[in-house]
Amino acid sequence: KAKQQGRNALQTFTQDINQKLTQRVTLRNDLQEAILNEQFELHYQPLLTITGAVQGFEALVRWNHPIKGAISPALFIPIAEETGQIIALSQWVIERAARDFLTLQPQLSSHCRISVNLSPMQFHRPSFLSSLSTTLEATGLSATSLELELTEGILMNDTDAAIDTLHALRAMGISVAIDDFGTGFSSLSYLRHLPVDKVKIDRSFINNIANNSKDAAIVQGIVALAHHLELTVVAEGVETTQQHQQLVELQCDVFQGFLFARPMPFKALCEWLTEKQGSIKATSAARQ
Ligand code: C2E
Ligand code: MG
Ligand code: MG
Ligand code: MG
Repeated sequence: KAKQQGRNALQTFTQDINQKLTQRVTLRNDLQEAILNEQFELHYQPLLTITGAVQGFEALVRWNHPIKGAISPALFIPIAEETGQIIALSQWVIERAARDFLTLQPQLSSHCRISVNLSPMQFHRPSFLSSLSTTLEATGLSATSLELELTEGILMNDTDAAIDTLHALRAMGISVAIDDFGTGFSSLSYLRHLPVDKVKIDRSFINNIANNSKDAAIVQGIVALAHHLELTVVAEGVETTQQHQQLVELQCDVFQGFLFARPMPFKALCEWLTEKQGSIKATSAARQ
């Protein structure tokens, strides 16, 4: 009986792996087509300062699969990284984001930036900086309107080369944020060697901040360190007013999350902005 059970378990295990592998291979083939047929779309999520002013928008890629429907970037980005398809996809993302941002720019404060997520493969390519310059020139986006989001992991490999690249980005006027900060298991002291501008505290620390004093302590520690290094602190994944209030008390500088706005298609973003600017005008008119 035990033997039979063992055999069954092994069979389920093998089936499971086979299913996952098949899914990956299928997605990989579908990705190729998606890149050619423009099945991608960008959604934008606003980042707000403590006064509620728009500081910028994060571009988040969406895949509208013709049969499977919407597929999460958390699922297909890692596959695209494995296959190298991320290079073509990222190029599309940055061009699309630049063009959309330029359309909005006349309505925005000059400090606003468009944030784009970078994959490790992109960052470590020898042609990364030159192709970025080419893209900025081709689209007309100013380097000072761009922010790149990198994860700690990207910076931990080959740190010297990474630091050189960061210096070059800074010299161009591009802002750099460390994304998902706190999840990388890295020593915090490495931060002082990195020429970056912002840290984005990972959503997992924000989630339970109201009920978990340890999470609150971690956020407090990150804020103290970041401010000491003159970095801006972003809290991502803010969902409730209670969380927001607590993050304000902990002196986070910038906020992003469903509480303020979900990531939305470009058209919805335009409407969101118009509505927000309308309500700002109404408030200041009422004050006069
Ligand atoms: P990320 O850069 O950390 O992006 C934040 C994620 O949190 C987004 O998920 C966003 O929709 C979600 N989010 C924002 N506010 C809230 C909130 O209040 N509550 C909750 N529960 N979630 C919130 P999304 O869009 O599924 O993206 C997942 C990840 O995929 C991103 O994490 C990023 O690492 C990656 N990604 C997305 N677009 C791109 C891209 O164009 N290129 C690359 N290389 N990676 C991308
Ligand atoms: Mg990000
Ligand atoms: Mg993030
Ligand atoms: Mg994250």
